[in-house]
Amino acid sequence: MNASLKPQAERQARIDLAACYRLAARFGFNEGIDNHLTMLVPGHSDRFLLAPFGLHWSEVRARDFLVVDFNGKVLSGEGPVEPTALYIHLPVHRLAKRARCVLHTHMPYATALGTLKNPRLEMVVQSALGFYQDIAYDENYNGLAFDQAEGERMARVLGDKSVLMLCNHGVLVIGETAPQAFERLYFLERAAQAQVLALSTGRELRVIPDSTIRATLEQFGSGGQVGGRDRADLHFEALKRQLDRSEADYAS
Ligand SMILES: [Zn+2]
Repeated sequence: MNASLKPQAERQARIDLAACYRLAARFGFNEGIDNHLTMLVPGHSDRFLLAPFGLHWSEVRARDFLVVDFNGKVLSGEGPVEPTALYIHLPVHRLAKRARCVLHTHMPYATALGTLKNPRLEMVVQSALGFYQDIAYDENYNGLAFDQAEGERMARVLGDKSVLMLCNHGVLVIGETAPQAFERLYFLERAAQAQVLALSTGRELRVIPDSTIRATLEQFGSGGQVGGRDRADLHFEALKRQLDRSEADYAS
């Protein structure tokens, strides 16, 4: 990246990550003040933006983020680093390809799925199809992640997928950009919600046949752009406009 573009790119990354926090709070994806959403600093692959612990997700601002390097050293910003943030996010950023943005939440429906003996997201609703063969399942809940080895283990289980279902715990979603990662997070929760609500009726699920899934995935591929713009970018921009109207301080 051209050095003169770096401050501008970091500023945009901070705004987008703050938007992720605000939107996640708005959708009820937060649990207390726990969990973390992080992004690599543009132009770097060895340091990331992290909100200091203690802020509610609904009050995170672009200016609040700490910059933390891969040794866990705070390079800039003020406030405490929560240990599990370091031990989950740092290894995932370091080891997982495409993990420029890493969103870890305990959002209710996806987390509920992960408490079932069979935690699989079933291909029973259109919004689930985008996750076909893109979810890794970590069925070995180990308590709190208090060392890097636990985050490294998670990164290995994630492999080349974009979603890690942390059974008995929550989810971890990665993306190359904030809009991509947030799109995955949002639709994962929506698909999980449909499945959990369907299961709550006690009736049997109607699974979409494999041939239909494959054909629909091809349609997703060709329909990923609308008017030359990426759907995820358009969605994220629309969501940010909601924030601009009612809580514009996120970008400050
Ligand atoms: Zn967690």
